[in-house]
Amino acid sequence: MLHSKPREDNYLHKGLRKQLVQVLRDKGIRDERVLAAIESIPRHFFLDPAFERIAYEDRAFPIAANQTISQPYTVAYQTQLLEIKKFDKILEIGTGSAYQACVLAELGSMVYTIERQKALYDFVGQFFFLKNYPNIKRFYGDGYEGLPSFAPFDKVIITAAAPFIPPKLVEQLKPGGIMVVPVGDDSGQKMMRLTKKPDGSVQEEVLGDFIFVPMLEGKNK
Ligand code: SAH
Repeated sequence: MLHSKPREDNYLHKGLRKQLVQVLRDKGIRDERVLAAIESIPRHFFLDPAFERIAYEDRAFPIAANQTISQPYTVAYQTQLLEIKKFDKILEIGTGSAYQACVLAELGSMVYTIERQKALYDFVGQFFFLKNYPNIKRFYGDGYEGLPSFAPFDKVIITAAAPFIPPKLVEQLKPGGIMVVPVGDDSGQKMMRLTKKPDGSVQEEVLGDFIFVPMLEGKNK
């Protein structure tokens, strides 16, 4: 399978990544560690070779199973909001291409990521590049349930449009933890950041506008 074969990361790709990082800076991303992670990860590996030359444009692209790899700006924005520390235990809903998971893993966190689409979960399982990240654990399941047996988490990131804040995921967040979630329907979503206080109360911030594919209930075979 194509996804299992190592691919080339040459000076051209590296140059395009530097330009992408500049675009993200110009759009307001300030966390240098996040920018360095994006600069180091060959995004073209996550896309079909047909998209290789445009892999470093700041836009979303189609991947397998009718899903998308998020726009780099969106990945950088959500990651920056999470204030990742080394060894943070992070729950991600919506593995998709695993690009966001790799950015989190590159920052030294332990990533637990769930995908509901079996075909996509299996496809990513073949991906040669993930061998570099033993700190990413992948699960096939329904993100609304989270991973109770691995909870609590320092951080939770949802990378699909949630119609409401999934209560079980708030429960699985540690006191002091942060959750980032785009909330809304297919006409658009507001990015929200929830911070769980030491007393268990939750503080909410409503941030910018985004468009994600929907967070759906249940698993898909
Ligand atoms: N983080 C991904 C973005 C993927 S798009 C990346 O970096 O490429 C959103 C993904 O969320 C899709 O793959 C979709 O199948 C998945 N998804 C939607 N609802 C879900 C749910 N309830 N549980 C787990 N994954 C879900």
